[in-house]
Amino acid sequence: MPMTRRELLSTVGTAAVAAVASPRLLAFAQTPAPAGPYTLGPLPYLAAALEPHIDEQTMTIHHDRHHQTYVTGLNAALAKAPAVASRSLEDLLRNLGTVPEGIRAAVQNHGGGHFNHMQFWTLMAPNAGGAPTGAAAAAITSTFGSFETFRDRFNQAAASRFGSGWVWLSDERGKLVIHSTANQDTPFAEGRTPIIGLDVWEHAYYLKHQNRRAEYVSAFWNVIDWAEVNSRLA
Ligand code: MN
Repeated sequence: MPMTRRELLSTVGTAAVAAVASPRLLAFAQTPAPAGPYTLGPLPYLAAALEPHIDEQTMTIHHDRHHQTYVTGLNAALAKAPAVASRSLEDLLRNLGTVPEGIRAAVQNHGGGHFNHMQFWTLMAPNAGGAPTGAAAAAITSTFGSFETFRDRFNQAAASRFGSGWVWLSDERGKLVIHSTANQDTPFAEGRTPIIGLDVWEHAYYLKHQNRRAEYVSAFWNVIDWAEVNSRLA
């Protein structure tokens, strides 16, 4: 059975291609590495849309540079393990122990970074914020007593995450919990399902708020999109 070009290349290696050269094969070998399987989607609103709460420059650099780095790193890792690349990102993050050791840390950091930022951009919206509505309002009140108590506890978790990480409201087997993760670790890795995730890395707020993380966390409550939270809860 004839080999596909990809099988042939993986067998002989690109360095050997010249020896079997056909114009078509050479052109294929010179094609840059594929940019996938993951790509960075655009922000779901203009970078300035969350002003004055989150500033345009922060949003632009955070999305275009920081998030892009995670996508690039994830693709580079998966390119080394094609069998793993066909699994969903959530599956990989929930089962890091099944990811080949050589790319496990990269999937944890860059795959986590990609997921975490995707959920972050889509969690915020212009003309949003305020008190929760619908299912979120009911779930938060029944779990924490009131929105204000929930927000205070979430803010406290954000303040006490040392260094870089995320603070979360997650579902843990049907119960809502506030917790935080280090670096780009995800709730998936702890058997939880993320509902609200706030980036507390300095790159998320330093340009506008410098070292004042609490000021940024407070601003976040003006842009959280409760309609999105409700759809995640559903
Ligand atoms: Mn970030």
